[in-house]
Amino acid sequence: MRKRRKSKEIKIGNISIGGDYPIAVQSMTNTKTSGYNATLSQVRALCGAGCDIVRLAVPNVDCAGVFAFLKQNGVTAPLVADIHFDYRIALACVEAGADKIRINPGNIGDPERIKAVSDACRNAGVPIRVGVNSGSLEKKVLDAHGRADSAALAESALENVHILEDFGFEDIVVAVKSSDVPTMIEANEIIAEKCAYPLHLGVTEAGSPARGIIKSSVGIASLLSRGIGDTIRVSLTADPVKEVEAAHAILEYCGLEKNDGIEVVSCPTCGRTNIDLIGLVNDFEARRSEIKRKGGLKVAIMGCAVNGPGEARGADIGLAGGDGVALIFKKGEIIKKVDQSCAIDALIGEINLL
Ligand code: SF4
Repeated sequence: MRKRRKSKEIKIGNISIGGDYPIAVQSMTNTKTSGYNATLSQVRALCGAGCDIVRLAVPNVDCAGVFAFLKQNGVTAPLVADIHFDYRIALACVEAGADKIRINPGNIGDPERIKAVSDACRNAGVPIRVGVNSGSLEKKVLDAHGRADSAALAESALENVHILEDFGFEDIVVAVKSSDVPTMIEANEIIAEKCAYPLHLGVTEAGSPARGIIKSSVGIASLLSRGIGDTIRVSLTADPVKEVEAAHAILEYCGLEKNDGIEVVSCPTCGRTNIDLIGLVNDFEARRSEIKRKGGLKVAIMGCAVNGPGEARGADIGLAGGDGVALIFKKGEIIKKVDQSCAIDALIGEINLL
């Protein structure tokens, strides 16, 4: 892991990003923002899953009240208003208590309007995220580059940054996203060289969890492993809670977040497997909430007793499949033999005794 890029510290509500602050996990609600109660439920679910910053699309001024509503109902996580074009929505969201605004000043048009937004944000201590993605590049930039390549994305983002800087506003977070992973990586490398603002990483329109998690992981982890990135969003066509779970997994596997849950290692199975290992692993994952212990614990679920306990020597506890039976082992020592039908009951029972 390379040394982290030194980025500017930016405060978003009650958390900070950039500098040496932990990489923050973000997601976005997909309820209708006008449905305040449904949005509240989803924000709570996201926060419960470990989402540090929650973004909401705000399509019109009437929806801006959602920020006040969420805060009145106990939401403490920083809330971001995602706005396209209309500066009046941005002003209404700042007024209603949004903690960050995502808007591209280049899309607002009239300099007086840009000034009004940057002044309102400055007065309220609200940062602005400049967010450029391949699907929404300005025509001028697209014409100049011929396509939404990394240089075009970076140029557009920096132009938007400069518009804010010209109004004396530097409380900025930058995002350059593409659904093409190499483009997203290169665009962020360019931005990381050219400014010190914190970077929000994400692969946009990554798709279903099956492919999108891999796609996002490749893009985000490539940058994080080289010290680039201050906050991440995994974008999936799914329940946004899945985005948060995937984001934490990326941070964990990049060594940027302590594993405060349970790390499961399981073998790929092979011709020696005489137990339904895939079923057992799925069952274990589905029953994680039954585990009382929260804290670094490595659990191995292995296909055979010949190699399993040995291959999982580093695990605190685990099971190894026999012929329709499972052997429960602790630190490599077999402590129990059970029928495979109750293997996960036995494993979880032993974990809860640790
Ligand atoms: S642990 Fe056993 S079953 Fe699993 S891959 Fe290794 S040898 Fe095969």
